Amino acid sequence: MSDNNKEILVEVKDLTMNFPMFKGVFRRREVGSIRAVEGVSFTIRKGETLGLVGESGCGKTTTGKCILQLYHPTAGRIFFEGKDLCSLGRSDLRRIRSRMQVIFQDPYGSLNPRMTAGNIVGEPLKIHGLAEGARYWDRVEELLDMVGLNPAMANRYPHEFSGGQRQRIGIAKALAVSPSFIICDEPISALDVSIQAQIINLLEHLQQRLGLTFLFIAHDLSVVRHMSNRVAVMYLGRIVEIATSNDLYENPLHPYTQALLAAVPIPDPFVEAGREHTILQGEVPSPLNPPSGCRFHPRCPYMREECRQEEPKLKDQGGDHQVRCVLV
Ligand code: SF4
Repeated sequence: MSDNNKEILVEVKDLTMNFPMFKGVFRRREVGSIRAVEGVSFTIRKGETLGLVGESGCGKTTTGKCILQLYHPTAGRIFFEGKDLCSLGRSDLRRIRSRMQVIFQDPYGSLNPRMTAGNIVGEPLKIHGLAEGARYWDRVEELLDMVGLNPAMANRYPHEFSGGQRQRIGIAKALAVSPSFIICDEPISALDVSIQAQIINLLEHLQQRLGLTFLFIAHDLSVVRHMSNRVAVMYLGRIVEIATSNDLYENPLHPYTQALLAAVPIPDPFVEAGREHTILQGEVPSPLNPPSGCRFHPRCPYMREECRQEEPKLKDQGGDHQVRCVLV
């Protein structure tokens, strides 16, 4: 079956998330809003990994939190298994949300230091009433084993594990409720380079074994290429390019994608020396007051006058490839 024929698991339609800014002694005077995400749309098919890439402050994590309904979107719709999450009641949402889990960037910060690894992994089983007694510990051992940890370590505390092992505990905890969809929010950025590949391999192995679907959030395009079937590039709350992984890496069309790719080093020194580099100038502007027209124009080496006036639309380039740029 081609990827396009696979069933859609997650659909995000015109998602917008604004955070109001307040001033005054009692913080009651609204003085503006942070436009964290605007008009973002994409689908993720069953068993697929969609990479979501961009510098920090581009709205990637906010998009993930909106999907998990940790934020209530300002506008737009989010469908999971065909159900509109924004219109579900509390109990329906709770039930459906257990099939969506998240793996965080900082494995240490996300684990309770006063709980043993076994209790951390087993906590969701208790909350959702999924296992009790001997069956509970069997399942905890099974989960630890699944992520490559020795079940005999179940009585140890998070500080007794290495960074990579702590991330494995976080993954085991996410798997406890047998989810079908996992948001991996920069899951390897805080890890040593030598450990990163091990965690990526583990995630890929688990995806194949359990048929998982991933949204893989990262700022580094090299990691995302390896993991993803398709990649969406975000800049200042907008998707500026979305394509299949191969297409995006072989034929990047948006200047921002080209700049992100140029920042990825090539291991061959001769190829690296002969490569043209598009260096990204400056920082991502504030989402409180985004630039007019194309939001990338203050940093774009190909900027024309028209780029300041009107924001380009996301245009279809054929073959699942869409770009938001007047040059294309
Ligand atoms: Fe650069 Fe203009 Fe394209 Fe924006 S629309 S990316 S400023 S060329």
